[in-house]
Parts: sequence; C-alpha cells; structure tokens
Amino acid sequence: MGPDLSADRPGGVQARHQAALDEGRFLIQRCSACDRAVFFPRELCPHCGSTALARQAPAGTGTVVAVTTVRRRPEDGGDLNVSLVDLDEGVCLMSRVEGLAPDDVRIGLKVRARVVQHDGRGLLVFDPA
Ligand SMILES: [Zn+2]
Repeated sequence: MGPDLSADRPGGVQARHQAALDEGRFLIQRCSACDRAVFFPRELCPHCGSTALARQAPAGTGTVVAVTTVRRRPEDGGDLNVSLVDLDEGVCLMSRVEGLAPDDVRIGLKVRARVVQHDGRGLLVFDPA
C-alpha cells in the first residue's frame, strides 16, 4: 500500500464528503458562479475557478458509460463489477453496480445511487434503476 493520495487535511472537502457518506448522505457540489456540477469534491470549481461551491443532494440517477469486471477467486469474494457512471447532473464517478451478475452490467444501463455502510464507512454503490 502506498500513501493514500485521496486524503486531504482534516475538515477538507474530501473529509467532509466522506463524513456525509458515513451518515448515509451522498452529496455533490454545484458551482454558484457557473451553475455546473462538480465531483470529486474540490476547493475550486474546475470549470471557472470560483470558490462558490455549494453541496447538494443529486437525483442519484445516472447511466453506466464504461464497465469492467475484476476477476477474483470465489474465496476472495468472487468477480467484482467496476463501472463508470455518468450522473444525470453531468458528473462521472467510479463505483460498482449491485443486484446484477458482474458480467450483466452493460454500457447504457440506467442506475440509481445508494449509500451502503462497509466497515463503518459510507460507500456509494448503484442499483439498476
Ligand atoms: Zn464554476
């Protein structure tokens, strides 16, 4: 394991995002200056550079735009689906689709976000919509 490059300072935007997930809430940011959605959480809008980023709950619906199956031995939990999901707000995130066999997840599949708790931490997954 190398250093955790996703870590930021205590109280930083990533920490706040994870804290919300731990409480079962999935939030993204929206820029008040250019009105575009932002994900992953940032200090500055990647579109216009504004710091006026407000957090909001997205609709949670999206579309699978890329998909792969990570092969694992059954004793390690079996095959795992990894999907890139384009949320209806226009931001992409990497997650997994549950409720289908990993190989049955297809590009174009409509999905809906759900927060699950795993080892005491909130984790975003998707179900077929
Ligand atoms: Zn902006």
